[in-house]
Parts: sequence; C-alpha cells; structure tokens
Amino acid sequence: LLQLTRKLIEIRSVLLSVDQSEALQLPSIVVIGSQSSGKSSVLEAIVGHEFLPKGDNMVTRRPIELTLINTPPNAASSSSTPAEYGVFPNMPGMGKITSFATIQKTLTDLNLSVPPELAVSDDPIHLQIHSPHVPDLTLIDLPGYIQISSMDQPEQLKDKISGLCDKYIREPNIILAVCAADVDLANSPALRASRRVDPLGTRTIGVVTKMDLVKPEHGATIVRGERYPLHLGYVGVVCKAPPTTGVFRSIRGDKETPNVTGAVLRREGEFFGGENARFFGRDQKVMVGTDTLRRRLMDVLETSMSSSLHGITNAVQLELEEASYQFKVQYNDRRITSESYMAETIDALKARFKEYTAQFTKPAVRSKLKDMLDEKVMNILERLYWDDPRTLELAKQAEDRKLTPDELDTYWKYKLETASSLLTKSGVGRDSTGLVAEGLRQLIDSIATGEPFTFHPSVSERITEFSHAILRERMGMTADQVENCIKPYKYEVEVDDREWNLGRERSEDKFTQEIKRCDDKLKEIQNKLGGSRKLKSLIRHVGELEKWEEDRRKRRYSTPGVGGAVEEEKDGAIEEGAPVLDAYKYSPAQIIDGRHALLLSNRLNLLKIRQQALKSRRCKMGPDQSAFCPEAFLAVVADKLAYTSTMFINIELLEQFFYQFPREIDSRILYDLDRDEIARFARENPKIKQHLDLQERKDKLESVMRSLQSLVNLQKDAKGPSTSS
Ligand code: GDP
Repeated sequence: LLQLTRKLIEIRSVLLSVDQSEALQLPSIVVIGSQSSGKSSVLEAIVGHEFLPKGDNMVTRRPIELTLINTPPNAASSSSTPAEYGVFPNMPGMGKITSFATIQKTLTDLNLSVPPELAVSDDPIHLQIHSPHVPDLTLIDLPGYIQISSMDQPEQLKDKISGLCDKYIREPNIILAVCAADVDLANSPALRASRRVDPLGTRTIGVVTKMDLVKPEHGATIVRGERYPLHLGYVGVVCKAPPTTGVFRSIRGDKETPNVTGAVLRREGEFFGGENARFFGRDQKVMVGTDTLRRRLMDVLETSMSSSLHGITNAVQLELEEASYQFKVQYNDRRITSESYMAETIDALKARFKEYTAQFTKPAVRSKLKDMLDEKVMNILERLYWDDPRTLELAKQAEDRKLTPDELDTYWKYKLETASSLLTKSGVGRDSTGLVAEGLRQLIDSIATGEPFTFHPSVSERITEFSHAILRERMGMTADQVENCIKPYKYEVEVDDREWNLGRERSEDKFTQEIKRCDDKLKEIQNKLGGSRKLKSLIRHVGELEKWEEDRRKRRYSTPGVGGAVEEEKDGAIEEGAPVLDAYKYSPAQIIDGRHALLLSNRLNLLKIRQQALKSRRCKMGPDQSAFCPEAFLAVVADKLAYTSTMFINIELLEQFFYQFPREIDSRILYDLDRDEIARFARENPKIKQHLDLQERKDKLESVMRSLQSLVNLQKDAKGPSTSS
C-alpha cells in the first residue's frame, strides 16, 4: 500500500477542483481546539517550521488547507528544486516560496483580508508544503474556538466559528482535537464538538499539549484517555514554540525562521525521557511525542484513505458516467479548446467583415459622395440664387431668344464662378474622405459589438481601437490626395454635351424632390390649420405683418436726429398702424407656422420657375448656356468631384483598410494574446464556458478514475496473497 496516501492526496486535490460536493470527498485531518490550546504549535511541530500567523487578535480567520508533500531527500542536490518550499496553488504568481517567514507573512495577510465585519470566512486558503521532513498529510487548520466571549470577541463570533468548524468535522474527515493538559478535558470545546459528530470516537485523535505544565503522572493519566476514551487514542506532546532568538535557533537551513523540529524533539526528549520515563516509557503504552503523533496521523489517514477507496471509486464512477452522458447529449462529444474557439471567432469576424465590405464598391461609394455633394450644391444655390430677388430676372432673360450668353449681364457670370468655386473649395477632400471613413467606422463598430463580442468587451474594444487608429492614420493622407486631384476643377471645369445633359436631368430630378419636400411641409402646416383657405389667409396675414415690420425697421433707422437709436418699445402694446394683430385669430405658434409657410411658398414659387428654366430650350442647348442654368452646371461639377474623389478614396483608404484590417486582427488579437488570456477570452462566453467546464470535469474525472482504478488494483494485489494463504 506504499504511497496510497500520497496518491489519494493528489486525487483529493483534483477532486476538490472538480466538485466540492460531499460525495467526492476524501478524508483529511481537521485540526480543532480552543484559542491558545497549542494548535498552531502542534501544526508547526509537524511541519518543522514556524509558518502560521501569530498575534493576539484572532489571526486565523479562514480555514488553511495544508497539504504536506514528502519529497525524497536527495531530490534537491540533483536539481535546482529547493529542498523545502511552500506553494499557494491559487496564487501561481508567487511560485515556490523557500522562506517560511514569507509564507507566514502571506498567510497573515490572507487572513487579515477577511473584512472585520465578517470576522471569519469559510473560503479556505490552500497551501502546499514540500519537504523531505514532512509526511504525506492533508491538514486543515481552523479558527480556534472562543471559550469566553468578550467585547472584541462577541457571542455571535463564537457561533460563527463553531459553525465553520462543524462544516469541516463531518465525515469522512479525521478530527484532531487539541486540548491543553493544564485545562480539564471536560471543558475542552474540541472534544465536545467531536463527540457531537463522532459519538463513538472512531475518527477522533486527541492531542494533549503542554504536557510540561502538569505533573507527569497526571499527564500520563490524561493521555491514557480513561475518562474520555477515544478509539484512536490520545498523543501527549510538548511543543512550546521556542523563542525566536535563542539557543534553539536552527543552525542549518533557513535563517529567518527557527527550525522547530529539533527544538521540540529536544524538549520532548528531556520531558518524556529520563526521570519521567517511568510514566511515559514504552512499556507504559501511552503515546507521547511529536514524532509519535506524526506517525499516528500517517497511519490513521492511510487507514481512512484506504477504507474510502472503494466508496470514492464508486462515487467518481457515477459522476463520470453522468458527466460523459451530459457531454454526449449536450455537445455530441464534440471537444473544443479555448484556442479553437478563438480561431473560429476570428475567422467568423473576418468573414463578416468581408461580407460587409461588399457595400463599399466604387459605384456605391460614388453614389454616397454624389448625394453629399448634391446637398452642398443645394446649399450654395440657396445662398447665391434663391435668396437673391434678381434670380427672377435671370429666368426672364433666358426666355429672350435673341440674348446670347455673351450679352448676359456679367453679374450672372460672376455669380456662376462664385458658385463653382464655393463648391470646389468647400473641403471636398476632407468631407468625402470623412464620409467614407465614418461608414467604415460604423461597419467595424457594428461587427465588433455584435455577437459573440457582446461577451468579449475587452477584445471588442481592441478591435474598434486599432481600426479607428488605422482610419485616423489613413484619413489625413487620403483627404490630401483627393484635394490635390480635384485642384484643377478649382480653376476651370470643362463640360461636354453629354455631361451637360446628364447634369441637367439630375438637377431637374433634384428640383422635383425639393419641390415635393416643400410641398409636403406646406401640407403639414395646412393640415394643422385645417384647410387651404385658412393657410392662404394666414400666409397673407404674415406677409402683411412682415412688410409692416420691414417698413418700421426702415423708418427707425432713418428717423433724423435720433441717430438710429431705437424707439422705446412698450411691452405688449399694439403699435399704431400695425396690421390688425389679431391675437384672437392666431396664436403665437400659428404665427411661427405662418412665417415658415410664407418662406416655403416663396421657395416653391422660385423652385418651380427654376425647374421650368432647366426644362427650357435654352438650357437644353448645351454647356455654353451655363450662366443661364447654374443648377445644371453645378450638378456636373458635383459629378466630376464625386468621380475623382471615389477613385482616390478607393485606392488610399478602402483598399488599404481592407488589406490591413484582417492582418491587424491576426497580429493584435490572435497572436498577441497569451494562453491565459485566450482561456479567459473563451470563458467570457457563457456557452463556451459551460462546454469547457463540462469537458474539463469529464477529463479530470476520467484521469482520477484511472488513478483510482490502479490503486484499487494495487490494493487487491497487496491483499491477495495474504488472504489466500
Ligand atoms: P493556538 O492559539 O491554539 O494556536 O495556540 P499556540 O500554539 O499559539 O499556543 C498558545 C501558547 O501556548 C503559546 O504561548 C505557546 O508558546 C504555548 N504553548 C504551546 N504548546 C506548549 C507546550 O507544549 N508547553 C508549553 N509550556 N507551552 C506551550
């Protein structure tokens, strides 16, 4: 049965990571005792080092699950592995800790991290100690029982601690009940607790500490355990922690913390030997000494482990069958890894990107840019023509068949030049590049925030971040290029007949749309008012009002002697001569609508006249009539600008981005994340996490099952010959 305990200890920790349920628990030794009973001293004597938190103010606030792993003594000399070290498995960053002072400090910090209002926590600290001087054991150190409640250790805390201990002293664990020899065993909370869960004392070992504080004959009586018999017996020890500076300081090994073993053994040797051997000698059949305790613990744990073997094997078998069944049903036995999930996600991302980029064909981009430029044209027309009362003249002149373009007032020629240069110099490079870049940004953002990136906020952020960076970088360059290439249009735009006709037609369309837009808005106001007659009379009213306002303005500024000063205005008073400001007929809101309607109807008149002009014979004659038909000319310019911009945006921005994006995904995500980050990434997706968890559980159970099976076989072999003979 060699190494059974050791192997089962390994299995135990794997099982703990699979499942905390009781069915899958292998026995461990749980150390309980009241405060100051000497619990820590016993544990440290077993380990051979001072490493537990010390202090007056309740320093053990969390269970410490201590796994002792015996290493072969010669292992250290042959490799770089230190002879003795501790590992906190849940804090992989700390690595192998050779200084027991550091272990002590870490344990103290971990205990003190329990918030004061909680006082104790049932979240265990895991610590492994590897050493050639320790036996293979698992021990759980628990907060000491409080015997007398006080101000800083109230009743409530007392209950909390016993609740926590109760959780751990259940089967199949072995209870190590620590009692001090100088305190009546009847008062030992450890023994009382143990009796509640183990009334026959079949899984409790008593440890009697501070044997040096009582007369040896009295000590021997206690250890014999006649008053409170325990099946596994009592072991008496003397293990007062030696002073940190003193003769007991270890001469070999660690300089920071004393090696306890030597000191304890010497002290015990002095106490249990010599004169006192008549009470504690071999023939007295009492168990004394730390060494005895250690061997006893090993024996008891091994026996307990060995008797748990069948039970645990069956339990694991059941769990494994269930896990395998679930894995089959839910995932059809399909195995995944974090890496495969990552790769699939990235592939899907690239595929979606590619699919979406189809929206960015040249014709599509051109049409977007045309819309934008048409909008600019409309604004320029509005500013230069529609707001100019002389525009009506232009239409009349166009009807004059004898007037040649050369004879037209230069006013109109200048106006056309201004309009054209307003358009070509309106920042076409910046605006068109910006428009396309914004389209790309929206595309990326929608991919990066859609499934499954809803689960992966940090990767999603990375994607948007670097794509925005690429866009920012390319945008300036592209805008400059576009601006450069449309430069010639700033001086001259040559238009041929075909272009002219297209431009004229497009312009007509735009006018039709604009007319419809104005019409709709007017209708809206009309509906609000309740009929076309009402709209007309409101418009008439507002017209009069505006005319009067205009006159008054003129009058004011021309009043002699006042120097343009504004007349006193009497609030709310209706001035003389004002059109009957029928406050009863129109509400202020209606007046606002009315002003709007007046504007719209004026705009409509003008638009219709200009649309007529575009359809006129003169306009159809060709590009040399540009000054008569500025709308058609500007539509052609807009078209040329859109065409040129698209070409360069395509080369400088789109193609570059389409090339760079998938590569950046690879280099900044796929190849940039390390294993842990990829594992974290995969588990961010709850579906994947579930899949991985079940798969991992099944794998661990399988490996545990294999180990258990081989142990069962070993046990059979070991028993086999003896039972048959
Ligand atoms: P814990 O609170 O149960 O962990 O108890 P400690 O191990 O901290 O011990 C409490 C006090 O008893 C300390 O001052 C120890 O030095 C002392 N002590 C522990 N074991 C012995 C012992 O065997 N003999 C004597 N005389 N004192 C001991």
